[in-house]
Amino acid sequence: MTELPRTCDPERTSMLLQDRVAVITGGAQGIGLAIAERFVAEGARVVLGDIDADLGRAAVAHLGGPDVAASAVCDVRDAAQMEVLVALAGTAFGSVDVMVNNAGITRDATMRRMTEQEFDDVIGVHLKGSWNGTRAAAAVMREAGRGSIINVSSLSGKVGMIGQTNYSAAKAGIVGLTKAAAKEVAHLGVRVNAVQPGLIRTAMTEAMPQRIWDQKMEEIPMRRAGEPAEVAGVVLFLASDLSSYMTGTVQEITGGRFM
Ligand code: NAP
Repeated sequence: MTELPRTCDPERTSMLLQDRVAVITGGAQGIGLAIAERFVAEGARVVLGDIDADLGRAAVAHLGGPDVAASAVCDVRDAAQMEVLVALAGTAFGSVDVMVNNAGITRDATMRRMTEQEFDDVIGVHLKGSWNGTRAAAAVMREAGRGSIINVSSLSGKVGMIGQTNYSAAKAGIVGLTKAAAKEVAHLGVRVNAVQPGLIRTAMTEAMPQRIWDQKMEEIPMRRAGEPAEVAGVVLFLASDLSSYMTGTVQEITGGRFM
């Protein structure tokens, strides 16, 4: 019989990510910071990558300081910066057990108005950024024989949203990336999964006009937006050994919207 990871033991007393090290891109605010908070509460040490150095430093202080967190400026579009970020987890805390590719931007416009630059920018941050992160983390994790990579997609990548041809394409692409990478590294002990949040209350969505917000609320069976902590709970599950037999999956966190 296969020996189960210790966190699958119902008698366990340790925290879910005890002694694990996680890298989180775009981790200085919003959903990424909520994931970092939850991971630290479960015993992990975290390395945050973000393009805003001041926000990164403030997030480290908020999480409890250098014993549990570190940050580095990392533009996820740049493969070399991503490799430096992943290496920092090793030098600061000794390993890389979890990688969360979360960094994101939106440049919404209908196709008629969207510029080529806006298309390229969104594909670059989300799809190329997730590929860079998955590749860099998998290279280290395959040597260790274990690891969990979580890519943040979106419900927009499942159903396609008006004004988001760039974002929907990138987020659907992340699903393909996740499944292909999962197949490549499964036999090496590395799992790759994705989450698809729906409407989550963050700076990214609070900029939305009230009329659009109300319209979205009508589409959500649970009749409310999700909180970043509710995404963090699912990412924690995928990061931990509770999901030890799951790879290549896509978890919807949507209050039932477009199920
Ligand atoms: P957020 O509050 O804007 O956080 C995104 C973070 O990513 C920011 O700190 C941002 O830094 C950083 N970032 C942007 N471009 C980057 C780059 N090139 N390299 C590194 N970091 C970069 O957004 P959020 O709502 O938490 O979104 C987090 C993830 O969830 C994104 O992938 C988003 O698409 C996804 N998502 C969100 C929702 C939602 O409803 N909020 C729904 C589905 C999926 P700056 O602010 O300094 O630019």
